[in-house]
Amino acid sequence: MIDFKKFFPIFQNNPNVVFLDSGASAQKPEFVINAMNDFYKKDYANIHRGLYNLSQVASSLYDEARDKVKLFIGAKYKEEIVFTKGTTEAINLLAYSFSKILKKGDVVFLTELEHHANLIPWQEVAKYNGIVLKFIPILDNGELDYDWFENNISSEVKLVCMSGQSNVIGFKNDIERVVRVAHNFGAKVIIDGAQLISHFKIDVETLNVDFLAFSGHKIYGPTGIGVLYGKKELLDMLPPYQVGGDMVEKVSFDKTIFKKTPEKFEAGTPPIVETIGLGYAIDFLNEFSMDFIEKEAFELTKYAIEKIADVKNVRLISHRNSNAVISFVVDGVSSFDIASFLAMKNICVRVGKHCAEPLHNKLGIDSSIRLSLGIYNDKRDIDIFVNELEHAISLILGK
Ligand code: PMP
Repeated sequence: MIDFKKFFPIFQNNPNVVFLDSGASAQKPEFVINAMNDFYKKDYANIHRGLYNLSQVASSLYDEARDKVKLFIGAKYKEEIVFTKGTTEAINLLAYSFSKILKKGDVVFLTELEHHANLIPWQEVAKYNGIVLKFIPILDNGELDYDWFENNISSEVKLVCMSGQSNVIGFKNDIERVVRVAHNFGAKVIIDGAQLISHFKIDVETLNVDFLAFSGHKIYGPTGIGVLYGKKELLDMLPPYQVGGDMVEKVSFDKTIFKKTPEKFEAGTPPIVETIGLGYAIDFLNEFSMDFIEKEAFELTKYAIEKIADVKNVRLISHRNSNAVISFVVDGVSSFDIASFLAMKNICVRVGKHCAEPLHNKLGIDSSIRLSLGIYNDKRDIDIFVNELEHAISLILGK
């Protein structure tokens, strides 16, 4: 068994912390922190602008990061990798650019599982464009109702926008099935990969998704950098989201000719150090392989779910197919009271609606507690958590 905690200085600096909130943002390995620091100290300059050596080195490190992302997700061309600020910006980019193409009456399918980041941008498009949003419902066990999807899709549906892995219930959606059916009707598929990317090996070519969005900070990289993958022919067709310097081929007072993808979507000075940092985070993950990380996460999730299910009054929202994301409520006890008690014991979990308010409404709950696992978590973390959870419940219920 690998002791992953030793790679993450946060745990040496906070030995009593039990960190179970990696779904919100993962901790950073020393390797990534040092590499970003070194870049600032030794090689920093703006990219793609200077003929001098520092700028050339910075530019090639930045370009290498794009290659690393391309290989990491199995994309065909590096032009298919657009850097954004994160998942939220990647989906806003798509919503904005598609708003120039979609017409009144066109239908966009979302799901009842979505994070606000993959809901509100489409609501905004609907408000101004007259597109119609329809929601693939969930079944009682929280899984998507694929029969509903297959019975309701039609040629009016232009986009299917779906989370790859729910950030509340925690299982992976059947992306292959959705893509197959959507493509039969000419619809494009956008996957919100914010959670998916940290816990599963992803190959966009095999999945045949049209777009995939994810954030660097959830895969042990820095904040401020994310990725939009898109099939090249689709990115070529979409208009840019932001405009300005560095994304132009030719500019006159009357008009501008944009560069091709990905530069077309990357206006202004990019987050250079963060992009390079993301590349190093991918190097770090590749040391262990995503297959290994996926398997380990499943085993620890199974262990955690079994233990949490045994705790008195707990009602699990997640189930045996969930991976690394486990949500639950405690009947008769406020989730906030429990999370406050856990916080006093240095146990970091998330409480609330996890930016998925409509899903919580659908489930008939006001809020939930969520544990989300990173590669550094182990059975000891789960044991401490379950112990303190039991402690909190018995104190609050006065038993
Ligand atoms: N989608 C899902 C499923 C998420 O879990 C998150 C992060 N909580 C996001 C989108 C948004 O990611 P970010 O805040 O990094 O843009």
